[in-house]
Amino acid sequence: MAAYSKITPEIAEQLRAVVGKRFYVGGEVDPNYSHDEMPIYGKYMPEAAVDAETTEEVSAVMKICAANKIPVTCRGAGTGLVGGCVPLAGGLVLCTRRMNKILEYDMDNLVVRLQPGVLLKDLAADAQSRGLMYPPDPGEKTATVGGNISTNAGGMRAVKYGVTRDYVLALTVVLADGRIIELGKSVCKTSSGYSLLHLMIGSEGTLGIITEMTLKLIPSPICDVSCLVPFRDVESCIRSVPKIKLANLDPQSIEFMDADIVTSSAAFTGNPIFPERVRNEDVGASVLVTFTGYDEDELDQKMIKLGEIAKEADALDVLVVATSSNKKSAWAARSSFLTAIEADTKLIDEMDVVVPVDKIPAFLIYIRALGDELGIRIRNFGHAGDGNLHIYCCSNELEEEEFKRRVKIIMDRAYTKCAELEGQVSGEHSIGHAKMVYLRESVGEDVFELMRQIKAVFDPDGILNPGKVCDSTLAERA
Ligand SMILES: Cc1cc2nc3c(=O)[nH]c(=O)nc-3n(C[C@H](O)[C@H](O)[C@H](O)COP(=O)(O)OP(=O)(O)OC[C@H]3O[C@@H](n4cnc5c(N)ncnc54)[C@H](O)[C@@H]3O)c2cc1C
Repeated sequence: MAAYSKITPEIAEQLRAVVGKRFYVGGEVDPNYSHDEMPIYGKYMPEAAVDAETTEEVSAVMKICAANKIPVTCRGAGTGLVGGCVPLAGGLVLCTRRMNKILEYDMDNLVVRLQPGVLLKDLAADAQSRGLMYPPDPGEKTATVGGNISTNAGGMRAVKYGVTRDYVLALTVVLADGRIIELGKSVCKTSSGYSLLHLMIGSEGTLGIITEMTLKLIPSPICDVSCLVPFRDVESCIRSVPKIKLANLDPQSIEFMDADIVTSSAAFTGNPIFPERVRNEDVGASVLVTFTGYDEDELDQKMIKLGEIAKEADALDVLVVATSSNKKSAWAARSSFLTAIEADTKLIDEMDVVVPVDKIPAFLIYIRALGDELGIRIRNFGHAGDGNLHIYCCSNELEEEEFKRRVKIIMDRAYTKCAELEGQVSGEHSIGHAKMVYLRESVGEDVFELMRQIKAVFDPDGILNPGKVCDSTLAERA
């Protein structure tokens, strides 16, 4: 395979002619473009960067890069957790954050058309102001919606509403050679050939660059209630989850937290909203359950039913998060879990496995034992309602090399265990370059090779986001 080219002064001039002052080279490039929110996976500076503002600019940039075999890594807000937007092969970073316009609402069909750099929080607030909800709710609200689509982000409302994929109707995409294509239409259903739309969703900038999106919205629920259900231990806590789901209560979220993460969150936020002791007993783990709807009486009935299930499941109590300020604090504390870990930890690596819900305790017991064996502190929380666990390997004492050595042993064994439990490598954070080896082991050689062939169809010269998802060819190019 041919080697990539460098960005020569002539190529730089061509790129500058497309985006003007929004072309940056060498020392002008923002150093943050070298990493995402998981810097343990390495920092790689690009040679140059562009802030694109239109589909036509992205297309023109890609034509120049394709003609010259310049690697291009697309970047949204850089909040990813698997090194996805990190330019492993140098080259150009193409940032879509300035493509941040909400273009139009179609209130008859409940859809919105927008550019990829719109932040999740801005879309959520804008839709809300029109009585609408964009249901996907990943924890990091300053991520771009384009990044969310490219990683098929999940979040805290997936139990009831599904994930980002379920709300994408159509995309405008710039291919590696600069061609502009339209995928999908603003319709409620389709059975019209291979769904390239769904191939593009979650493709992490390796198949094309998303420059416009049409998303589905729903009428905003008018009432909601959250209840915290504390248990003595993780096992009884998780055992309650299938019961809550089976009872036809249709919860929006069932979030899991153990005692350790509750303590760090309280220290970080200064607001101990989740109790560490209830009825004179230590709380080992809790679930935070939220119901949403259009009828207060219906939600009251659901709370009563939840109380009965909790009692049968040996919960310590059911605490209704009643006032709107308490609700806000509870969800702010839940959303701050990762930031709380980052605040008091020097070295962090993470895993975002998804396992069948009833296998959560088996996985957590296994991973904790591994952490004890290898002297790595394990902290975890997750979306219990859908089996998606965020596991953090943490250390303040070890040197980085030793930390990485031990964490690799943990990861190798944990992903094997995950496979035994019929789980998948990533529930929502994606593969990037950090999890590629585990994806390969998990899906097997035939499926991995099919993924590589699909990548080659979209991007024969491998210039889009090299070294990610299924592209293990970077070493061959060196
Ligand atoms: C505190 C915290 C909490 C988080 N909570 C969640 C959570 O609950 N659920 C969840 O799923 N994730 C979560 N994340 C991870 C992260 O926010 C998501 O992966 C998010 O979707 C990344 O969006 P971004 O704009 O930051 O993308 P980036 O990190 O910039 O890029 C991510 C990937 O998308 C590609 N990409 C970005 N824009 C485009 C585009 N326009 N076209 C093509 N490819 C593109 C990049 O090349 C890269 O591969 C969390 C992260 C943090 C730091």
